[in-house]
Amino acid sequence: MMEIRYELTKTPKAKPADETKLGFGRVFTDHMFVMDYDTGMGWHDARIVPFGDISLSPAAMCLHYGQEIFEGLKAYRTADGEIQLFRPEENFKRLNLSADRMVIPRVDEEFCVEAVKELVKVEKDWVPHTDGASLYIRPFIFACDPFVGVKPADHYMFMIILSPSGAYYSTGLNPVKIYVEQKYVRAVRGGTGFAKTAANYAISLKGQDEAHQQNYEQVLWLDGVEQKYIEEVGAMNIFFVIDNEVITPELVGTVLPGITRKSAIEICKSKGYKVSERRITIEEIAKAYDEGKVQEVFGTGTAAVISPVGHLKWGDKIMTINDNKIGEISQMLYDTMTGIQYGKLEDKFGWITKIDE
Ligand SMILES: *Cc1c(COP(=O)(O)O)cnc(C)c1O
Repeated sequence: MMEIRYELTKTPKAKPADETKLGFGRVFTDHMFVMDYDTGMGWHDARIVPFGDISLSPAAMCLHYGQEIFEGLKAYRTADGEIQLFRPEENFKRLNLSADRMVIPRVDEEFCVEAVKELVKVEKDWVPHTDGASLYIRPFIFACDPFVGVKPADHYMFMIILSPSGAYYSTGLNPVKIYVEQKYVRAVRGGTGFAKTAANYAISLKGQDEAHQQNYEQVLWLDGVEQKYIEEVGAMNIFFVIDNEVITPELVGTVLPGITRKSAIEICKSKGYKVSERRITIEEIAKAYDEGKVQEVFGTGTAAVISPVGHLKWGDKIMTINDNKIGEISQMLYDTMTGIQYGKLEDKFGWITKIDE
């Protein structure tokens, strides 16, 4: 495995005094992990260095044509003060899936997990102590060649930055209001929907913006061909509980294969629930709603773990789910997943990687 060079800061920052005011994604730790790729050399010069600005040519290819991919995971502190990761190998497996789609060179998945472990170890005092808070980990790769022509790059940078983040739910699991998008689409057959790449987010902002104007927090995306089948929420996968069946859209290439999604399916199956990964239309949801069969709707993603949906607006139809309260399965999944992540529950599935001191 590649050696990691260390250059530690002599001027560490003060840690956030009040963890309840952390919010998300604005505070960064003292160090970052970096490595470079050059055609002919492969990935090289792995290093942990002080967090700081980087210098890029204004012609850097990522700035013009968006050749970029990323991941998102968290480090959690247990009640005993141990620090642990949740299924980190899955993130780097998915990073390589995204890399293939965006013609970015693959990484050594095992080495990347080691890099995360080493970086988190250096920054262990930055892992929040408050229940529900965590250290967000953002690995990403982008094209840096100074060239304003369209082709896959020859030079890339891989970086990992860390951001302590507050508890997502400071006042319990509040259901979100979701708006079914009928104008814009997020992904199409043969496109990049399954890849974690910047472009998927850039194109979703417009719909998100219009949803916000109508006082909705998130957008539910339908398929890009017929705008009929439900896909996902753009940063979360979506689940429905209808007539005691747990349903989530099948991974047809336009849906991001969420690790929280995968874990939720595995937990539901282990508890004996009937789980289906299949195509499901918005009409089917509306019909089941009218028949009183929609029991729960929730999103899954690393940031919020489980996000109950209280309102679903499709055209003029407003569906209120489970009296705008969190459902039984949503609560069970939240408790089970966070229980494992924070070391309160036994890691029956073998999902935890500990950061050893
Ligand atoms: C990251 C992401 C998700 C959720 O994935 P997790 O691995 O569960 O965090 C869902 N949809 C999109 C578009 C994403 O980028």
